[in-house]
Amino acid sequence: MPVLVFVVICTSFLLFDSSGRGYYNPVFRRIVCHDSGECLHEIGHASDHRMGWISESNEFHQSLFYFTYVDYTLVGNSSHPWTGRILFYPCFFSPCLTEKNPTVWGFGTGWGGGRELYADMLLWSDGKPENMPVEFREYFDWDLVSRLIEKYIER
Ligand SMILES: [Zn+2]
Repeated sequence: MPVLVFVVICTSFLLFDSSGRGYYNPVFRRIVCHDSGECLHEIGHASDHRMGWISESNEFHQSLFYFTYVDYTLVGNSSHPWTGRILFYPCFFSPCLTEKNPTVWGFGTGWGGGRELYADMLLWSDGKPENMPVEFREYFDWDLVSRLIEKYIER
């Protein structure tokens, strides 16, 4: 019997690990991730949570529209690589930008929307404020980000 329990534990661990999906659990403020890119994305969700899910605020959405408008319209063509990424991000031009995204909670299949875009922006910046366009820096808790990078990536 103990052997069977041992086998079950080992098997479930392997299944879990090979699924390869990171996630952020907001109830326990716990991150599970497997590589630095995945960890940065999940740290993004933790920063969003700490900031009161600021990715769902009008201010954040206005900054997204302002950034892409200024970069694309006033400059004449897009000079910043993030403009295309933001404009073509799933759900950017639909109401789901402002909807809560349940995929944050676990192994969801969908992606897109404001929460996922916010988390990916931290990934695009490589977790560094100097790589983040100045319009978005205030929306991230950089103290928390650097602490979580130390904990989950630079261990
Ligand atoms: Zn996510």
